[in-house]
Amino acid sequence: MSIKTRFAPSPTGYLHVGGARTALFSWLHAKKNQGNFVLRIEDTDLERSTQASVDAILEGMEWLGLDYDEGPFYQTHRFDRYKEIIQQLLDQGDAYHCYCSKDELDDLREQQMANKEKPRYNGKCRQSAEVKEGVNPVVRFRNQAEGVVTWVDAVKGSITVANQELDDLIIARSDGTPTYNLTVVVDDMDMEISDVVRGDDHVNNTPRQINILKALKAELPNYAHLPMILGDDGARLSKRHGAVSVMQYRDEGYLPEALLNYLVRLGWSHGDQELFTREEMIELFDLSNVNVAASAFNTEKLVWINHQYIMNSEPELVAKHLNWHMLQRGIDVQAQGPDLQDVVKAQRERSKTLVEMADASIYFYKDFDEYDAKAAKKNFKVGTDEVLTKLLSEFSALDTWSGTVLHDIVLATAEQLELKLGKVAQPLRVAVCGAGMSPSIDVTLELLGREKTLQRMERAIKYINSIKD
Ligand code: GLU
Repeated sequence: MSIKTRFAPSPTGYLHVGGARTALFSWLHAKKNQGNFVLRIEDTDLERSTQASVDAILEGMEWLGLDYDEGPFYQTHRFDRYKEIIQQLLDQGDAYHCYCSKDELDDLREQQMANKEKPRYNGKCRQSAEVKEGVNPVVRFRNQAEGVVTWVDAVKGSITVANQELDDLIIARSDGTPTYNLTVVVDDMDMEISDVVRGDDHVNNTPRQINILKALKAELPNYAHLPMILGDDGARLSKRHGAVSVMQYRDEGYLPEALLNYLVRLGWSHGDQELFTREEMIELFDLSNVNVAASAFNTEKLVWINHQYIMNSEPELVAKHLNWHMLQRGIDVQAQGPDLQDVVKAQRERSKTLVEMADASIYFYKDFDEYDAKAAKKNFKVGTDEVLTKLLSEFSALDTWSGTVLHDIVLATAEQLELKLGKVAQPLRVAVCGAGMSPSIDVTLELLGREKTLQRMERAIKYINSIKD
């Protein structure tokens, strides 16, 4: 059977990083084996599923570049098929109607708990259900009473569960809608999924699903259950640990390639290697190298990886994502200012995230409203206006605007005025950027261009004069 994997999120919230890691591993397993990857939206819980969440999942997959070969398939479009299978199981005698009321089941559960027994359905309607007029029954799967279910999990190894542990689960609710374990099985069968890669919160469902698949005489997929992701405090990763939605990572300035690289290392390793291109991930990934133990999310490491990608990726790629952040700040870089790729080259060493890079690049495109108070206090002093005035007259006389020439003028001015270089370059920097940090002064001035530089120097001279009075 050729390899086919799927990612099957329930659209009840944003795309969580844990979900994204599951999607990535599933995608990698398909790609590595020249197989296909399916996206299936498990939206049968009509109360909790939302279109906004479906959109968030699709947006997250697209942003991460996890393309799917088939789908998205929606389970809500497949109700007729589920009904057909439920009927087939009833006809085969592998399922039966159950009329037990909620009160009866609650009493049963209480009794079992009081006897310190595991709460489970007692099989009352298994042999001959007492038909109750006016009551819509649920449908239960008739699980094998004896024997065991065994599978070799690609991550966890061999797992065996006794059938006695598994009660007769409900496969259709009293309103006729199918339940999770039924829909997953029908879809995995119909979509010819060869490898089910999912979170280990589903391990308990697997023997039940295997039994239903067997009743349907379907070929069994391989299973790989991925360990959970913990926060830095050892508890399951959740909102209170910070960002958990994939799109929030975009908003916080991470490159999708960096997040993917971080996620691939969360529970999988290849020696000591930390950085993997997408192609390397596909080549080297192997489910058998996935850790059994849970892995902890480490934001510091993600930031480090992000910085590596910002520094080493093609400026064109970084600029594409930086552009999104500039637009969020109301800046259309096409309209005016330097080429964004040049800004990336100038800023990448000092920016660990695209948020830092965008915030530190606004002045290339837009005038700042005010000077950074600390930087202005430190660098705009009596006499600084004269330094700036001298520079301004030299700059204004230039025919060509080049970083090297500008830098030479700054050097020469410092020499002539018998000032340390910093006493000239730093006020100039604050004058043109509004703050005390920017790329080297020659790069900064060249990127800013003649017009903005000269205008801002004039503005700074006026400002210094105004504070002198
Ligand atoms: N829809 C399930 C979930 O979001 C996943 C089902 C599966 O992978 O089998 O947890």
